[in-house]
Amino acid sequence: MATVLIIGAGGVGQVVTHKCARLPEVFSHIVLASRNEEKCKTIAAQLDRTIETAQVDADNVAELVALMNRVKPWLVINVALPYQDLTIMEACLETGVHYLDTANYEPLETARFEYKWQWAYQERFQQAGLMALLGSGFDPGATNVFTAYTAKHFFDAIHALDIIDVNGGDHGHPFATNFNPEINIREVTAVCQHWENNAFVTTPAMSLKRRFSCPDGIGDFTIYRMYHEELESLTRHYPTLKKAQFWMSFSDSYLKHLEVLGNVGMTSIKPVNFNGTEIVPVQFLKHLLPDPASLGPLTNGKTCIGCVVQGTKDGQERSVYIYQVKDHQDCYQEVQSQAISYTTGVPAMIGAKLMIEGQWLKPGVWNMEQFDPDPFMEDMNRYGLPWTVTLND
Ligand code: NDP
Repeated sequence: MATVLIIGAGGVGQVVTHKCARLPEVFSHIVLASRNEEKCKTIAAQLDRTIETAQVDADNVAELVALMNRVKPWLVINVALPYQDLTIMEACLETGVHYLDTANYEPLETARFEYKWQWAYQERFQQAGLMALLGSGFDPGATNVFTAYTAKHFFDAIHALDIIDVNGGDHGHPFATNFNPEINIREVTAVCQHWENNAFVTTPAMSLKRRFSCPDGIGDFTIYRMYHEELESLTRHYPTLKKAQFWMSFSDSYLKHLEVLGNVGMTSIKPVNFNGTEIVPVQFLKHLLPDPASLGPLTNGKTCIGCVVQGTKDGQERSVYIYQVKDHQDCYQEVQSQAISYTTGVPAMIGAKLMIEGQWLKPGVWNMEQFDPDPFMEDMNRYGLPWTVTLND
């Protein structure tokens, strides 16, 4: 049993809080803190159980330290934005608290996410006897565990990995993003990188696409190759990988809007002076777009996220597809959120649970694939993310 401090009361924060609140035998006391405490109170009012709420600016280490010294959590679940990862890690070190997040650090002024900044904390966390679990969402998160699970149970060595993220949902808006718009647009407009012959190869954003047939009658989708952070850790931890790629589906409408917004400069992260005020175009755009947390009641259809893994077993080539399908409306009925927030928030709860139970607990900074995948996979089945694996020999 442990006290947890959840930081961030957005779409993902809402799901993590709901899911943790249902397990009082693990999460005995929950504090939900965010920049705007009203959002925390709205989420708290949806629950059957009393939780504490607080206001914090997670960019400010001193404020975080003061809150953590007062609350005395065992673990911080960071579901604020990637910009806050390092300040929260610093505050954890200062107060002796374990750490978990769902997205790797990204500097505000450069659209460039990399693990190097967080991996640099390895020694300090080890010396403090604390653990930091990085990327405990769906992708990264469940996709890392899917890779580790197939490598453990189906292969002697894995050679190729394709992570395929399809959102077959429709929210009825001409243009909206399923998670934080600023982070989403920075990610989607970044140059593509994939792993091939022991190096990352760079290609223009969205320059390669193909069709993909989802299982279970979900349909056929156009998927685009892009860079995603789990490629960095998985290629490091599975050096037998010769090729690793990440693919995501986008609707024609989404891409058309993104192209036009990009062409007129609205997706830029460079500040511009407007009537004497400095504004960052993508931050202004975020302000105009629908709040991802508001999409829950509007979104129909399913997500289908999984990994196609190829490799060898007993000298024979084989291929495995492991995937999870989630219905947006089922998520809304359960936790008042759409499936993107749900599929991120549930793995964050599971990662935290495994740490608290001591099943995944060792000092240092770790990615998901560095732990035994089996208890995580069992918990996905138990807590709302059942998965399927198919083998092609
Ligand atoms: P939202 O924008 O909906 O929520 C972010 C929350 O963090 C908001 O409540 C926001 O407050 C709060 N916040 C932002 N800055 C600060 C700050 N300085 N101090 C305190 N609180 C702050 O985003 P999502 O819920 O969609 O995403 C949350 C995280 O999950 C992101 O890091 C995202 O990249 C990650 N993610 C990971 C996925 C995965 O599969 N691994 C998939 C989807 C998301 P305010 O309301 O005031 O803005």
